[in-house]
Amino acid sequence: MATTTNIEQEQSIQRFEVNYRGIFQKTLAYRITKDLVYIAHSQGRTAFSNGRYSDDPQRNGVPCANFAFFSDEHSEEELEAIASAKMDIDRANIVSVLDDTMVKGLEPWGHYGIRPINEKVIPNGILLVISRRTPEDLVRFLDKKPFSYRLAIVPGDASFAGLWYYRNDGTDVKMLGAIAKVAPSIINYDKAKDYVRKTYKTDQKIEAFESGYNSVVVTEVAPSQGTEWPYPKPTLPAWNEFEEGIVVKAVPNQFKIGPRGLARNPDYKRGTSKTQRPIVRFDLCTKCTLCWYECPDECFDPTPDGLYDVNYEYCTGCGRCAEVCPVNECIVMVDELNFSDNKSPWESFRKDPKSYTKDIEEKKGKRRMMPSFVTGKGESTSEVHSSVAFKETTKS
Ligand code: SF4
Ligand code: SF4
Repeated sequence: MATTTNIEQEQSIQRFEVNYRGIFQKTLAYRITKDLVYIAHSQGRTAFSNGRYSDDPQRNGVPCANFAFFSDEHSEEELEAIASAKMDIDRANIVSVLDDTMVKGLEPWGHYGIRPINEKVIPNGILLVISRRTPEDLVRFLDKKPFSYRLAIVPGDASFAGLWYYRNDGTDVKMLGAIAKVAPSIINYDKAKDYVRKTYKTDQKIEAFESGYNSVVVTEVAPSQGTEWPYPKPTLPAWNEFEEGIVVKAVPNQFKIGPRGLARNPDYKRGTSKTQRPIVRFDLCTKCTLCWYECPDECFDPTPDGLYDVNYEYCTGCGRCAEVCPVNECIVMVDELNFSDNKSPWESFRKDPKSYTKDIEEKKGKRRMMPSFVTGKGESTSEVHSSVAFKETTKS
């Protein structure tokens, strides 16, 4: 009697992963995987979706993942037994990303280190990102793979919502359109469009679906492209390596003046939660202490000259410091993809105040965006027409 090996079983399953920002994009990610399953069912395929167990309870901005599985050979019970009996998946035909700043790496709620976003992409698989950036801009952050894969970019902005609000702006169906284009073996264009028409019953949703289908651009990423991953590659402990009971390691107490002077938990750095980072014009700072006092994650380190350094490895990008700073243009939230390291900004400033200030002014640009999770009302954008001149008042 012919038997099916585990490898054959695995190869007959297609896997889709969607990476999203906890809370702000939870419903969006759920809708994408749910709709993929319904579309696949309408094609006579077996499919189901689930979420990563470690991502609940969620926290604002923390990278989370949902999955969808597809097969033409297995019943739903078989598919579920083969594909879902794990906390996470090992590989995916498509890894999609709902906020392009996650290309810098992911540190999910169940902490086990900073992982590359393309970690699970299989040879010739697809990394699908919604972004306004060029492929070169994104590839410079991606871990080098030993094989080629495809980077698909859907032009657009990350869609964020607040805690109790779903931003129904068409991003869900736009991603479905892009998936139908880059992976027709997962969902078929006609069936997907038909599903969107019958389910959502609005022209705007059909237009968003078509725009995802028509605008997605695919680039081949060769094995030589990308970066050497700067963090230790996380490995999960085997079942017999767990410590007995629940072990919560204490953080040693420390208070020193200067960068990295405060005690913080080295096992949970949280920095990959942010979409924007606060940049500080130290030359404008009045040393009022408000940023240090108000930061909910205690990211500011007092310095010997009375200023406050930022530890970006722990900053979640909540925007509170920028909100409370009383000085115009002193703390501004800036797109995280404009930065490639987590160095102390205060040290860069002390080394060369003028060139530090020039550099951050260029990175700021003139557009100021506050996401809805900061304003609590809706996204706000404004244009700044004059930047504040460098102030020579920075002796310690
Ligand atoms: S954005 Fe500001 S207040 Fe929020 S975590 Fe980062 S440093 Fe702290
Ligand atoms: S809130 Fe602004 S002015 Fe006050 S200490 Fe922080 S950076 Fe300086």
